[in-house]
Amino acid sequence: MPGQLIDGKSVAAAVREQVRGRADAFAARHGRPPGLEVVLVGDDAASQVYVRNKERASGKVGIRSNVHHLPADTTAGRLGELLTRLDADPLVDGILLQMPLPGQLDPDAMLSQIRAGKDVDGLTNESVARLVCDQPGLRPCTPLGCMRLLAEAGCDPQGKHAVIVGRSKLVGKPLAHLLLQRNATVTVAHSRTKSLADVVQQGDIVVAAAGRAGLVRGAWIKPGAVVIDVGINRDAEGRLRGDVDFEAARERASWITPVPGGVGPMTIAMLLSNTVDAANARLGH
Ligand code: NAD
Repeated sequence: MPGQLIDGKSVAAAVREQVRGRADAFAARHGRPPGLEVVLVGDDAASQVYVRNKERASGKVGIRSNVHHLPADTTAGRLGELLTRLDADPLVDGILLQMPLPGQLDPDAMLSQIRAGKDVDGLTNESVARLVCDQPGLRPCTPLGCMRLLAEAGCDPQGKHAVIVGRSKLVGKPLAHLLLQRNATVTVAHSRTKSLADVVQQGDIVVAAAGRAGLVRGAWIKPGAVVIDVGINRDAEGRLRGDVDFEAARERASWITPVPGGVGPMTIAMLLSNTVDAANARLGH
């Protein structure tokens, strides 16, 4: 029997509904909605779409959002000034610096101007340290979304072997820590991993986050495994494809996420959730 689909669209809708209730409760207590400031530098077309989507999604759940669009030649000093001002502003609960930044701006140096309590993307060094040291804090949105989808599949990571393909700072590495916190045994594979098929075959949980269409073959999936596909790739016809050979993998998996409609919708939903978490943590429930 083919594996069951984990429907990211409906899980994300449920998360947004929950966020809306929490945002309304915050507004009733504090006389203002939670506030998210999004900073976009330059004219990257994809980034502009992401930022617009985040702004729209915020409005729908009762989060006030504000976009600062700076020119591509913005200096580190100018961006630093803005981030420092937003960080000090008591009406700002969350700050998101949209990546990638133009070449003259060092992402780590810029992110370090955002304190961990407002870092709704969970990407500053302080947030990373908190995650690695098992301290409370805001976690990166896509890995958080993956954890939520595992829960939806009724999958408790404890004692399971989780294989993550991809070791990026955005997805693979933080997800490895979130899974360790839930007592999984974690293997992180990457572009230099030898015998990827043998590694993936050990996974009770397989998360593909390499950005290579169809990299994870169906025959590599251990029967009954839960498969989460983070990859977003466009094929020659312009259709979206994941990193997993979906049809073949579904024959062996117990649960599997589709692309599109799996992890994708979760990322923004978790950003909204992080924003309300940040607001509540700062001002109290
Ligand atoms: P990245 O390019 O920063 O990292 C890719 C990782 O995959 C690297 O660690 C690399 O070592 C590994 N890798 C590359 N080729 C490999 C191979 N042949 N075998 C094994 N490992 C290999 O990418 P990223 O930012 O982590 O994103 C990964 C994918 O997830 C992309 O397709 C991206 O579009 C997608 N993504 C989706 C969401 C979402 O919301 N659904 C969010 C972030 C990223």
